[in-house]
Amino acid sequence: MDFYTPPVIPMSSPDLTEAERQAVIKVLNTPNLSMGPQIAAFEKAFCDFTGSRHAIAVNSGTSGLHLCVRAAGIEEGDWVITSPFSFVASTNAIMFEKAVPVFVDVDPLTGNIDPQKVEEVAHDLKKGGAAAQRWLPRKGLRSGGQLKAILAVDVYGQPADYDVLRRVSDEHGLRLIEDSCEALGSAYKGRMAGGLGDYGVFAFYPNKQITTGEGGLVVTSDDAAARMMLALRNQGRAPGDTWLEHTYLGYNYRMDELSAALGAVQMSRIHELLEKRSRVAAWYNERLKGIEGIQAPVLVESTTQVSWFVYVARVAPGVDREALAEGLKARGIPVRPYFNPIHLQPYITQYLGYGAGDFAVTEDLGKRSLALPFSGLMREDQVDQVCEAIRDLLKK
Ligand SMILES: *Cc1c(COP(=O)(O)O)cnc(C)c1O
Repeated sequence: MDFYTPPVIPMSSPDLTEAERQAVIKVLNTPNLSMGPQIAAFEKAFCDFTGSRHAIAVNSGTSGLHLCVRAAGIEEGDWVITSPFSFVASTNAIMFEKAVPVFVDVDPLTGNIDPQKVEEVAHDLKKGGAAAQRWLPRKGLRSGGQLKAILAVDVYGQPADYDVLRRVSDEHGLRLIEDSCEALGSAYKGRMAGGLGDYGVFAFYPNKQITTGEGGLVVTSDDAAARMMLALRNQGRAPGDTWLEHTYLGYNYRMDELSAALGAVQMSRIHELLEKRSRVAAWYNERLKGIEGIQAPVLVESTTQVSWFVYVARVAPGVDREALAEGLKARGIPVRPYFNPIHLQPYITQYLGYGAGDFAVTEDLGKRSLALPFSGLMREDQVDQVCEAIRDLLKK
């Protein structure tokens, strides 16, 4: 028998109050558990917060990314430039349509897709032939492939370099999708994350900045795309379709009313929630500075605001991360190797033929990253406990 010992400090925790509980109970006292007024209120909160014209709430961040891929007109065999240093969902949304993720390596400081490399790759892919060939995966290509979009990820809540990505997208007629699932409340040169591409996606799994249990949301100011995504979320029903009429091949990606009610209360607390996260991150930053062998996250100048989805430290080159992680776990402190590179996931190597050595920076970050326990509810003494344990283990 395997006994589970709960960690001394949780990896993450949602920040919920009586207001969230009452909002959910209120919905339970009505017959409207789906497609009611809560969704509209939740969506409006996002239009106000991000400045986007439309918000489309869905049942996960992954569903939201998939809707963006469909709205961008990405089809079987199309190429999409994206990052191998991400949570798998950003690449999966491309794979769902049998399109081809063309990975581009990342910036070593931020872990975000390298904008200069994107520029070079987009240029070569548009040129085609041998120029394109050197960037494409070894397997899984169909004839007639063409570059349709860039899907960038705001890694750990720090926005990618959208001024360059926008210019490259405009130059080559590409759609720009922002996976802002980790970046609710962050800003790039003063502009809110989520609104930096043609479409942006948020996610509300319980470890994110706000939660709805499961859930996600797309923001866009593109009217036609918003209409399309509203239809696809709702079984392909276009405006004017009856319950049993389906203009498009759609999905059931709807968010329910309980989740939306919970989310609306969380959004009303967004400044408080972000402030708490920022305080905990500052505690970590301060303590890690004095520990040799581990580095605090680096924020670049274009990140004018960061909302701290996770707190990911990096071990110095040569430090045994696995031993450190094991030592921390033995003390009841959970940590995660965040992220494992996507191009090395078994199904990606199988379908696309990517392999070790293809993206050196991503692989290096993958080996040295360590997500520490983090939430807005963490106390200063818990941060102390984590950092003291790290100091102690690295001394050995
Ligand atoms: C959380 C997250 C998602 C979406 O996750 P869901 O579990 O589907 O809500 C997508 N991309 C990134 C980078 C994420 O961190």
